[in-house]
Amino acid sequence: MGQAINLTAQSANEGPTARKSGAMPAAGADGALRDQLHRPLRDMRISVTDRCNFRCVYCMPKEVFGRDFQFRERSELLTFEEIERVARAGISLGVRKLRLTGGEPLLRRGIEELVARLAALRTPEGESLDIALTTNGSALPVKAEALAKAGLGRITISLDSLQEERFQAINDVRFPVSRVLEAIDAAAAAGLGPVKINTVLKRGVNDDEILDLAGHFRGTGHTLRFIEYMDVGSSNGWVLDEVVPSAEVVERISAVYPLEPLPPAHPGEVAQRWRYVDGAGEIGAISSVTNPFCGACTRARISAEGRLFTCLFATEGTDLRELLRGGASDAELQGALAGTWRARKDRYSEKRAELTAHPGDPAGAGRRIEMSYIGG
Ligand code: SF4
Repeated sequence: MGQAINLTAQSANEGPTARKSGAMPAAGADGALRDQLHRPLRDMRISVTDRCNFRCVYCMPKEVFGRDFQFRERSELLTFEEIERVARAGISLGVRKLRLTGGEPLLRRGIEELVARLAALRTPEGESLDIALTTNGSALPVKAEALAKAGLGRITISLDSLQEERFQAINDVRFPVSRVLEAIDAAAAAGLGPVKINTVLKRGVNDDEILDLAGHFRGTGHTLRFIEYMDVGSSNGWVLDEVVPSAEVVERISAVYPLEPLPPAHPGEVAQRWRYVDGAGEIGAISSVTNPFCGACTRARISAEGRLFTCLFATEGTDLRELLRGGASDAELQGALAGTWRARKDRYSEKRAELTAHPGDPAGAGRRIEMSYIGG
């Protein structure tokens, strides 16, 4: 598992800010590497392709990702062996959860083999990793069983509307709702349940379906999560007025199906959890705009061609592929990961309000990476 890296160097400069953020204990206490805000590296989101078979208007609009769009060649993508090496390096530094994303990860040929490779990895304590995957569900009825057999633990499926016409307009490839609902059933039948269902809410587009969606998934055992529309990338024309605050979502549901708050299932959990008072399950709300969670953000992201990003709203990343294909040792790979993480001080969502210098472009500087490229 590679040479140990001195993780404690940082603890010396643990300041009041960490205490104030109250998020993270002293560096090294749990053996995890810490960034400038004392956040450990716990989660690694690995994009395995920049391609997708949907053209969701808030993520991969056709005007930008049209027929002539240059996607990465297969030779540019990290191989499964290279992804496994990056994952190993991450595990040695504290990563305990791997999430496979895209584009659409199920488009990557042999994805089951990658899942099996990652599922075989162990932590220094000999424990298995938490392996999850986010998908639009289009290939799931065919692949669910093989993914479960390969060792996939959990799955998240995106579904932004139950209305046929509207859903097909959002994904912009005429993909029917019924096939995503079929995918959710296939995942549950393969033992990948309870499934998390992600819905991105946009005011004036699908916020009139909040109660329909809640009503549809109540009592199914699956967890519906409403995601505040975000200014990820530079191509979705994001404006603040189109964000439906999670507080409003919870209020609208609770008025019909009373809800009560639940504590986070684990430190750094992205979604705020709510349970139906009548026991019909739970929902989640991901509030990057109105209630940012940067203080507890433990996520590193690896793009399909091997760039390490320390924030969903980053503008640049660290090239790990060059190291991987340049003969770097495991220790050098660990060093690059550790060095990048240690220097990390991202908290874009917290700064968004401060950074909103010009209407429509909160960052004011640098072209942010696209959601379809880094996989959310
Ligand atoms: S904005 Fe960046 S730092 Fe904040 S929670 Fe999202 S990914 Fe983490």
